[in-house]
Amino acid sequence: MHESAIAKSILEIVSQRLHSIGAPATAHNVSVVFGEFRNAEPESVEFAFDNMKAFYPGAANCQLVINTISAMAQCKRAQHKYHPEASNAYRCPTCDSGIGNLLQGEELDVVNVVVELDQTE
Ligand SMILES: [Zn+2]
Repeated sequence: MHESAIAKSILEIVSQRLHSIGAPATAHNVSVVFGEFRNAEPESVEFAFDNMKAFYPGAANCQLVINTISAMAQCKRAQHKYHPEASNAYRCPTCDSGIGNLLQGEELDVVNVVVELDQTE
């Protein structure tokens, strides 16, 4: 499943981050930027994340924070910037030429992991 593969890779990044600290630590939350055109349901990724996080040491209580960013395209003919819509085959609403570049919308980036060192007694 696509969404669980995404959730798994996010958890692996969290694990690496915890491991790189070199001391017992807990991840509180992880912020992820998600492009509109990634073709993954944020809710499904969150569901998969919550189901798998207990298997990753230090991540059992980690919250996933998803920020979705909308897509932005530039048309082929005149480089107009617009929001591409499947309903008109992603064509430019100003001059009706095809999509030239997708400027944003395919992101899947872990932007921040908030961790805290475990208390030692
Ligand atoms: Zn155009």
